[in-house]
Amino acid sequence: MAKVKTLRCPTCKTIVLAGSEDFPFCSDRCRLIDLGKWASGGYVISSPVHDPELLDELEGLKDRGRSGGVGDSGDKE
Ligand SMILES: [Zn+2]
Repeated sequence: MAKVKTLRCPTCKTIVLAGSEDFPFCSDRCRLIDLGKWASGGYVISSPVHDPELLDELEGLKDRGRSGGVGDSGDKE
């Protein structure tokens, strides 16, 4: 039995042979698409918060947490 290790391309689900140049992707294009997905969806933290109200709220929570020190888990009332 010849065992050929295969994997499906994470992007387009095409079967890719191990040892392929772009393994585990079927092509350079699919690899870039996958990287793009990570860049846009996986690292949301790197994008600044634009909502001033949200920033205000966060500041308030921080203050309350520091001075209160009750150790709540951040639940709003
Ligand atoms: Zn692919």
